[in-house]
Amino acid sequence: MALGGDGLHEACGVFGVYGPGEDVARLTFFGLYALQHRGQESAGIATADGTRLHLFADMGLVNQVFSEENLANLRGHIAIGHSRYSTTGSSCIENAQPIRVESDLGTLAFAHNGNLVNTSFLADQLQKREDVVTSSITDSELMARLIASAPGATWIDRIRRTLPVVKGAYSLVMLTSTELIAVRDPFGIRPLCLGRLGNSWVVASESCALDTIGAELLREILPGEIICIDENGPRSYSMDSASRRALCVFEYIYFARPDSVIEDTLVYLARERMGERLAKEQPIDADLVIGVPDGGIPAAVGYARSSGLPYREGFIKNRYIGRTFIQPDQRLREEGVALKLNPLPDVLKGKRVVMVDDSIVRGTTKLQTVAMLRRAGAKEVHVRITAPPMVNPCYLGIDTARRHELIAASLSVPEICEYIGADTLGYLSRDGLMKAIGLPESTFCDACFTGNYPMEVQLDLDKLVLEAR
Ligand code: AMP
Repeated sequence: MALGGDGLHEACGVFGVYGPGEDVARLTFFGLYALQHRGQESAGIATADGTRLHLFADMGLVNQVFSEENLANLRGHIAIGHSRYSTTGSSCIENAQPIRVESDLGTLAFAHNGNLVNTSFLADQLQKREDVVTSSITDSELMARLIASAPGATWIDRIRRTLPVVKGAYSLVMLTSTELIAVRDPFGIRPLCLGRLGNSWVVASESCALDTIGAELLREILPGEIICIDENGPRSYSMDSASRRALCVFEYIYFARPDSVIEDTLVYLARERMGERLAKEQPIDADLVIGVPDGGIPAAVGYARSSGLPYREGFIKNRYIGRTFIQPDQRLREEGVALKLNPLPDVLKGKRVVMVDDSIVRGTTKLQTVAMLRRAGAKEVHVRITAPPMVNPCYLGIDTARRHELIAASLSVPEICEYIGADTLGYLSRDGLMKAIGLPESTFCDACFTGNYPMEVQLDLDKLVLEAR
């Protein structure tokens, strides 16, 4: 995020490969392609050939940014890549990653998934070292420049000296002329995993990126772990451990791809179990169960199985919707989700429908999807959500919303039900959510539901106020 910029979110995908003899830029391209759901605003790849670094980043989807020609220029045997989430107010090429910073040790390329919460402090630290105006520097760049300017004879020394003062969520991949370095913050807030492809080493935000290039998932990079990979293979270092773990629970609910494995748990199966529990906790007499594509589908399958109701497809999603730079005009904007989803009237007509989805943030999509089902002839619409009411903003890397935009922060469940126009509305309990995922509660940050943040955050930081500064 830019300091004085959109301080609330920075969900992204990161990828890295150390692969002598491999076309590492191409592997990184396909790795980022698999992580496209984590960020659609910009994409970038940096490579190193032992002496020089090469970098290309631009606005747009991964396959809009890269061509055979610019991949061919990304030479070397080590690469990192980044795809950045679409956010308001900060959509500019300056914020694209990887970032390149210079130092007496050479060049460092740096890519970050997460969001920092002590950027003012970090900016002061940087200003003491360098005579720079920090107001337009992103939190990622701040971290990169603090590492580059830290004392220490090696990059690892500098990283280990710098990270203890950095507070927030960070899964990092870095590239020097000879090393690939991956780091996960001590709370382990954003996912990051390590894989093997023949003689190559691969790191990625999610295991689906390893599958895509034929790499094998070895393990999670541990909270507080720094892995440095060079010609001698990987070396692991640990930072001071945090008081607790705080893996983002929303990765399981919505953000991660269902075919990713996080903490030995396939996200798809966790979502199916959320649906099964939801059916037990929030049963309803109905004719069929549908999921809102794509997030709600696995849970709808689980809900149907557990309730004994038939599962049908009620919406067809345009699979090619992606992100377009062609802005819809006002009439098309009013159609809203119709650009993405189309209901199946012959399936829905006269039916009492259970519509399963992953979360309610502002409630606007739900309002439109419920109305769409009614226009398509549904007799009743019962909305079921595989998460508890989201009442707190995320400061650690998920672009939810400011508190006053979160519908559950100001309305009760019956009021939300009325607002979205549903016949009934039911949320999964926190306990049900945890049991469905099947990992100990102490694994997670679920501050969006509980307000129990793993670290001190500046509550109700208003991104628009910050942007205006
Ligand atoms: P609503 O609050 O009704 O507009 O619905 C929000 C929907 O957007 C959810 O059902 C998710 O599928 C999706 N969603 C949830 N969180 C996010 C996020 N951080 N960024 C983008 N989409 C999200």
